[in-house]
Order: sequence, then structure tokens, then C-alpha cells
Amino acid sequence: MMSTSWVASANGHSDFPLQNLPFGVFRRAGSAEAPRVGVAIGDDVLDVAACLAAGLLDDAAVEAQRGARACASPSLNALMALGSTVRRALRDALMALLSSDVAEHKRLVEQHALVAQREAEMFLPVQVGDYTDFYASVHHATNVGSMFRPDNPLLPNYKWVPIGYHGRASSIVVSDTPVARPNGQRKGPDDAAPTFGASRLLDYELELGAFVGTGNPLGSTIPLSEVENHLWGLCLLNDWSARDIQSWEYQPLGPFLAKNFASTISPWVVTLEALEPFRAPLAARADGDPAPLPYLTHESDQTRGGFSLTLEVWLETSRMRAAGEAPVRISRGSSLDLYWSFGQMLAHHASNGCNMRSGDLLGSGTISGASKDSRGCLLELTWRGAEPITLPNGEQRKFLEDGDTLSMTAYAEREGAVRIGFGWCRGTIAVPSVSSAS
Ligand code: MN
Repeated sequence: MMSTSWVASANGHSDFPLQNLPFGVFRRAGSAEAPRVGVAIGDDVLDVAACLAAGLLDDAAVEAQRGARACASPSLNALMALGSTVRRALRDALMALLSSDVAEHKRLVEQHALVAQREAEMFLPVQVGDYTDFYASVHHATNVGSMFRPDNPLLPNYKWVPIGYHGRASSIVVSDTPVARPNGQRKGPDDAAPTFGASRLLDYELELGAFVGTGNPLGSTIPLSEVENHLWGLCLLNDWSARDIQSWEYQPLGPFLAKNFASTISPWVVTLEALEPFRAPLAARADGDPAPLPYLTHESDQTRGGFSLTLEVWLETSRMRAAGEAPVRISRGSSLDLYWSFGQMLAHHASNGCNMRSGDLLGSGTISGASKDSRGCLLELTWRGAEPITLPNGEQRKFLEDGDTLSMTAYAEREGAVRIGFGWCRGTIAVPSVSSAS
């Protein structure tokens, strides 16, 4: 019998049952309250600092109380910096408060520390210092490579080294922040010269993000055997991408303005403990692929470095919204389709002595599978616009149009475990109020 919560909405098909308890930053919408750390439970948010103030954690472990004190803060950074022992202790204490087995605190929690999610305003959960985006799906790398470089789709380093680039942290935004179509230099393959103006090939990228909880001093490394002590949790990440800007600017130094105009993350960070029942072996490498070098090989990473998550992308156009039509799912994939694990990405990132810091974000790169319906961006789904997708109302999409709302979700389910989910990572392409330059 799986434990349930006295918060009734947590016990149905919720993304946020007692076994999940993801962390985020919230306040009552429309209030002048200070944003602070909360935990999602069913349709509600548990205000951790309010639990502490009401004396509800007086009997909790000292480490849990330390963690709860760090929750009276407008970001998760302070809590993350306290490390995995504090995170686990706090999670256990909050689970005890919310469990049906120990309902003695129900009245006090309801009175002092529970806010309905529909009445909450969510903030960026983490102040991200540095953001690195990887390229860890071999299907995505092969598909994109074959469009941009038909003769040479997968570069020879791909299966040896986790490829990444340093992204920009300042433009990371929380779900439901509108996204403005970026201006930039666009040059089609047949254009003699580039023009400057609004991107015509605006795309999303379905990714997972991993947060670093505790980092390493400059000059030291994070061995693959120790990554579990440094990773804190996962979120959803949409790495919005302007493909016309990207294809012109990306050589020789990689992505720049095509990607740093906005990156959206989900408001909730799902902890490693919540993901524990859904750990999985890394996907077997194809015959003939090289084994990872020794610093990227560790038994626990090979056997449980992956996460078995189903990932979905949904689209709602402004015409659908006006007609009251439901969003439509345009892809469904799996995080097991990653060639490199987050552990390998983190160990590789620090392998040269680069100091990772609390609150750093690692993006997986677009997660695409082998089948067409599991491709994680429109560039691949429509094969650079050559095969538009047709929506139920007859509209077609090659790339995103103004007014489109793009939503991502992820969930994990397995026999013998309670299903958990990530909630939504959503953004709407803003309709410009003035016509853009051309
Ligand atoms: Mn990306």
C-alpha cells in the first residue's frame, strides 16, 4: 500500500503526490508578500517557512530545520547549497507533515501553510549563475547534422565527448513568461547577403535541466562516482531557438544570439529522491560505438545514471484558443534516449578543473528519439519546414507563429511506484504591438 496524503488532490492522477514534493518559489498572486520556497502537493503549495514559523517542524531533525530556515528566501540557492543530506531530511519532515499516517498536524498546516496553486504566482526557482546546454541526444544530433551538413551529419567527436556550449543565464525565465520573437541576422542558403529582422524560423527545444546543488573549488574535479552528491534535481527546459539566425551564426563558435533571447524552465524542481524509483540503466550503445573513456565510466552511472521519464510537447495556436479548442500533443519521447547521462555531463564539465557552483543549470540538449513522433523540436518534426505538421483544425505549422502557446510536460510511471510529474513548462510567442523591422 502506497502512502497517501491528507491533501486529497494529491492522491488521484496528480503530478504532485506525496512521493514527489518538488520545490519551487511562490507567493499569493496579486499580493505584496515576499516570494519564498514552497513544495507542491496535489493542487496546493506547502509554505515551508510558514511551517517552521508555526512550530510544525519543532520535532523534526536538526538538518530538516536548517533546510526549512533556508526556505524563507526568494530562490532555492540557499537550500541547494546545504547539500543532499539537508535536502533529504527536509523532504522526510515535509512528507511526515503531509502524510495521511500522521494527520495530527492537518489543521495547523491547512491554517498556516497551504496555498492553492491556482492562487499562487510562481517565480524563477533558482538564480542561475551559469548555464551550459549539452547536445546529449544522438538522434537529435544526427537529424540536425544531416540538415545542416548533409555530407557529415555526426561529427567524429560526438560519441567520445559530451558536446555543450556555455549558454546565457540572464534570459532564463519561468514558465508562463511571454517570449518575444527575436530580431537577428537571417540568411537563407540562396540569399546573397543577410538581412536583419524578426526571426521567421522560431522553434522550441524539448530538454531536461539538471541543477547543481553543491559545486567544486576551481582546479578540482567532480568524479563520476560522486555526481549524485552534487546534483540536486531536474526541471523541464525549453531552449527556444531561432533557426534562421542559428544556421547563419553558428560556425565556427556555436550557438549565440539564436538561443540566448529566452530559455524557459518549469517552476518546480523535482529532487533526486523523488526520481529514485525511476532511475534506469543508460541506453546501450550501438555496436561499433566506442566505450566512454574511463573518467566517463562508472558502474553506478551505467546501471542507474538514466531517468525513465516520458516527455510530451503540446501546442495551442491563437485560433485554437479563440475557438475553445484543446491544445494538441505534437510529440512524445523518452529521456532514456539520451546518449550521455547528467552524471557524465557534470563529471565532464568539471574534468578540466572548471568550478561548478550551487544553482548552475545543465541542459540535456533537445531530446529526440528514433521515431518521428518523438522528435523534440519543430526543426526535426517538420524537417526544416519541408513536411509541415497539420493540426486538427486544419492549420499547418513549419515553425512557431505569434500567439502560439508551447507547453512541455514530463512524468514517470512504473509498476509498484506512484506516478510523479513535472507540471508544465509553458510559453506563448508574444504578438508584437508594433511591426518589426525587416
Ligand atoms: Mn538546446
